[in-house]
Amino acid sequence: MPDALPTPPIVWRVALPVPLPRLFDYRPPVGETAGSDDVGSRVRVPFGSRELVGIVVETGPSDPEAPEARHAFARLDPGPILEGELLDSLHWLARYTHAPLGEVLATALPASLRRGEPLPDTHAWAWRLTEAGQTGRERLRAGRPRRLADLLAPGPVEEDRLDLAFEDWRSAARALAKREFAERLAVPAAAHVVEPRPGPDLHPEQRVAVDAILAARDGFSALLVDGVTGSGKTEVYLHAIADCLARGKQALVLVPEIGLTPQTLARFRARLGVPVHALHSGLGDGERARTWTAFARGEARVVVGTRSAVFLPLPDAGLIVIDEEHDGSFKQLDGIRYHARDFALVRGKALGIPVLLGSATPSLESLRNAQAGRYAHLRLQQRAGAAQPPTVRVCDVRKRPLEAGLSPDMLETIGHALEADGQVLVFKNRRGYAPVLLCHDCGWSAQCQRCDAPMTVHAGGRRLQCHHCGARRPAPDACPDCGGLALQPQGAGTERIEEVLTARFPDVPVLRIDRGTTQRRDALEHALAKFGTQRGILVGTQMLAKGHDLPNLTLVAVVGVDEGLFSADFRAPEKLAQLLIQVAGRAGRAQRKGEVLLQTHHPGHPLLATLLAGGYHAFAEAELEQREMAGFPPFAHMAMFRAEAQQIAACEAFLRMARERLRDVHAPLDLHGPLPAPMPRRAGFQRMQLLLSAADRRSLHAALDAALPAIYASAESRKVRWSLDVDPMDL
Ligand code: ADP
Ligand code: ZN
Ligand code: ZN
Repeated sequence: MPDALPTPPIVWRVALPVPLPRLFDYRPPVGETAGSDDVGSRVRVPFGSRELVGIVVETGPSDPEAPEARHAFARLDPGPILEGELLDSLHWLARYTHAPLGEVLATALPASLRRGEPLPDTHAWAWRLTEAGQTGRERLRAGRPRRLADLLAPGPVEEDRLDLAFEDWRSAARALAKREFAERLAVPAAAHVVEPRPGPDLHPEQRVAVDAILAARDGFSALLVDGVTGSGKTEVYLHAIADCLARGKQALVLVPEIGLTPQTLARFRARLGVPVHALHSGLGDGERARTWTAFARGEARVVVGTRSAVFLPLPDAGLIVIDEEHDGSFKQLDGIRYHARDFALVRGKALGIPVLLGSATPSLESLRNAQAGRYAHLRLQQRAGAAQPPTVRVCDVRKRPLEAGLSPDMLETIGHALEADGQVLVFKNRRGYAPVLLCHDCGWSAQCQRCDAPMTVHAGGRRLQCHHCGARRPAPDACPDCGGLALQPQGAGTERIEEVLTARFPDVPVLRIDRGTTQRRDALEHALAKFGTQRGILVGTQMLAKGHDLPNLTLVAVVGVDEGLFSADFRAPEKLAQLLIQVAGRAGRAQRKGEVLLQTHHPGHPLLATLLAGGYHAFAEAELEQREMAGFPPFAHMAMFRAEAQQIAACEAFLRMARERLRDVHAPLDLHGPLPAPMPRRAGFQRMQLLLSAADRRSLHAALDAALPAIYASAESRKVRWSLDVDPMDL
């Protein structure tokens, strides 16, 4: 008689950050056993000749048919670090984006945890005086270090409270530390509460919105806070968050990349009375992992963060707010192509909590959802406080002589605003000196050697730079084709506009703000704070469309609208309308009435006409009708395959194969392509795309589910870099 078959050993099924849509089996390290409570823990495993960190997502008997699984090297966590709602929602995200679960889970973790580092301490930091500081404090001269030393004299103070006490205490702390008068120490991250500061009395529209939110607080619902700039949306969020905190719950606030300003954070801190965590790409890995862990442990209560903050664990969730919900930066454009707003809604539903979507210019998707009754629609149509809406005027520049793209009328209006002691913002969504360098003799223009794009002229004409791949080279002195000397920068970017305005208004300061001058978030804040409320001109790109309040801004001059009026992307009109309204919203935020001037060659263009006569909502209504007739989102659902390779033939072969596999599954899909990408060559790679469109979401996903295994397995897929983008935002 043969012995009874041995029971197969229990293995971990591990999600690994590799581009393969499957799990991998591992036996636990020698001498350890696997159990179902390992699900959600990180493990370090061998993978080929590499070592990877993955997450256990299942346990089960090993497959007797398969070769024996390898042993994992180590278990990295005593218990799960991804669990409950977050783990479930991430499973959903992997299904929705059709991405490998291992890559999705890796995206959700802060970088240091992804690398396998241990969970960090979640203590807070405080400052206290040393003995030398206690005795030496009296001898310090009046100034910031002295002020800080006096504040610390009674005992340690948490950094969070120092933020509230006075601005720029950090440089004072460094000065004290240098003299060994003060030191930093770790303190328990208890939610040390300061007295919340009351806000202004809500005006009636705000009251209605807050009441609706509070009435909805016990379950999932989506509420669109649709309010003009300055109508007090942030006040509405603050009331909802305060209520959430009072019930002992956590609140997550998502803001766009450029919307997270120190001003916003300070306002939240002062009003809420608990530490408010910030999470954005400018932070170090350590800081990000600490915030993540503090939320996982339920110690942290409020976070204001950009896109990836949507992955924070929220064991005591009470509320999610997405400010400027229409903003494009919520969509990740590479790796796992998720939309933070949409994922936040999925999480809100799973958590059973309200999700607030706020904007002065809601996305057409959200407006459609509100119309269809899926979202509550809360409107704030009045500006709060004393601010008045700006007047908007179109300036027809046809046949007018232009100087760096500015018309005489525009220059005159700028002059008047300055004479009246106001500040002027000149908005142009193109940085650099000029977008093209052209030979007037033969028509040659400077092209990037690695992209299908002209090089932008920088440094007053001395340098050429590609905005797509970053390539740089000096501008030639003579035309490389004909040897002529008639090389001329064509058109105007912010640099050239700055030059012209400086020459024209020599007695006022002109400050240029774009990614060339201001790489970092705080650099922008410092520059604007230094500029202050003095008479002067700001020239900038969309970095200036949001953020820092400019109370003395009386004129917003918009140049270069026309480039956005005739784009092939069906979302271009929506983006342009949102940008115009957002920029215009910067004028007249305080006591002084603002004016907006739009300079265009197409004063009769329907987009401008509708926007001016009826505002954003009239535009949105007309645009939704167009989208419905054309069968575009939100009335259809799309996905995009993209392929890149050295050889165009490889791209084409891959996308043709993908198209065939999608045809094989006989789904009601429209397939467009393979077609060259809008920029057919970038950084030396040939690029093509295949667009899928379906009337309903379910058929789109069913077709992808059915076709993807064969696409992954194909030989063609190994000869290109390819990606799938569900709900693509840039076509
Ligand atoms: P939004 O987020 O809609 O742009 P904010 O909430 O930032 O608007 O409010 C704009 C300005 O109006 C802020 O300075 C804010 O303090 C002020 N404000 C908001 N609500 C009120 C109110 N009910 N009474 C007085 N001032 C208010
Ligand atoms: Zn030439
Ligand atoms: Zn390039």
